[in-house]
Amino acid sequence: MANVMRAVVVQGGQLRVESNYPVPEPGDGEVLVRVVRAGICDTDLQIVRGYMRFEGVLGHEFVGVAHSGEHAGKLVACEINCSCGRCDFCKGGLRNHCPERTVLGIAGHDGAFADYIAVPEMNLHPIPEGLHPEHAVFVEPLAAAFQIVRQTAIGPGTRCLVLGDGKLAYLVAQVLKLHQASVLVLGKHPAKLALFERRGIQAELLSQRRPRPEFDLAVECTGSPEGLATVLPLLRPRGTIVLKTTVADPISVDLAPVVIHELTLIGSRCGPFPPAIEALRSGAVEVETFIEAVYRLDAARAAFEHAARPGTRKILFAVDESVPSLLKVRGS
Ligand SMILES: [Zn+2]
Ligand SMILES: [Zn+2]
Repeated sequence: MANVMRAVVVQGGQLRVESNYPVPEPGDGEVLVRVVRAGICDTDLQIVRGYMRFEGVLGHEFVGVAHSGEHAGKLVACEINCSCGRCDFCKGGLRNHCPERTVLGIAGHDGAFADYIAVPEMNLHPIPEGLHPEHAVFVEPLAAAFQIVRQTAIGPGTRCLVLGDGKLAYLVAQVLKLHQASVLVLGKHPAKLALFERRGIQAELLSQRRPRPEFDLAVECTGSPEGLATVLPLLRPRGTIVLKTTVADPISVDLAPVVIHELTLIGSRCGPFPPAIEALRSGAVEVETFIEAVYRLDAARAAFEHAARPGTRKILFAVDESVPSLLKVRGS
């Protein structure tokens, strides 16, 4: 195996593709994973704009083949938080909140837009045979959608609003539906709203909805700083808002409605992988419609420009081009 590789590196707000980046040395408890597919997330776009002040190899949504350990030779997905395992939070089941943690491609740990990544072996989850790597790459963001169900009491009849019509919204809306909630998606892009409707999810233009308090629960996944202010007037008293958006800049919003209507604000980040893997395997959650394009890793700059265009669906990297793609691979 070579000791250098390709890697997409962010530094000082600049993105570049290196061809001689050192292959990472797995640390204690870590294994090397050869990346097969990776996906560009809005968080990656925010990081290039300065979010988290991260420098290094970008990328945290990926699947690859484990090189050693229990899953050697198998396709795996990987949880992104690398925790110490010793502190009170880790011992109390809050590993994702370990104060010592690093996060793949986001904080203190090189990410997956590279030929190889070193990751804690305990973070790996095998991908069942038959699940295409370009579907399996959605495990990480889908797990984040399943986290909402863990944090709230969603069930039959819960009137849910999903604000936003992007990639995460598509996953969140499907997960809420799986839990028998009634779901309405409000967004800005007619073409994308049509994709929700094709999946049997009611979707409307935000601009055409008269704001009135009608929802028990709203999930804010616009990726925009204005999302929270937009969602507040749509909640019934004692309603719940789940915040999924992270942006580089601080936001300012009038929180009086939260007090007056006794609303609950819940921040929500990473979630459980097993239900996400099972939902993709069984087809309960559909993702293929939301794959917009697949790029070679060397064409990362073009891929990022594409991903940053408003209304773009998921952009993937065919890091290992020997694995056939569902779409024509761009940048060759
Ligand atoms: Zn992400
Ligand atoms: Zn810890």
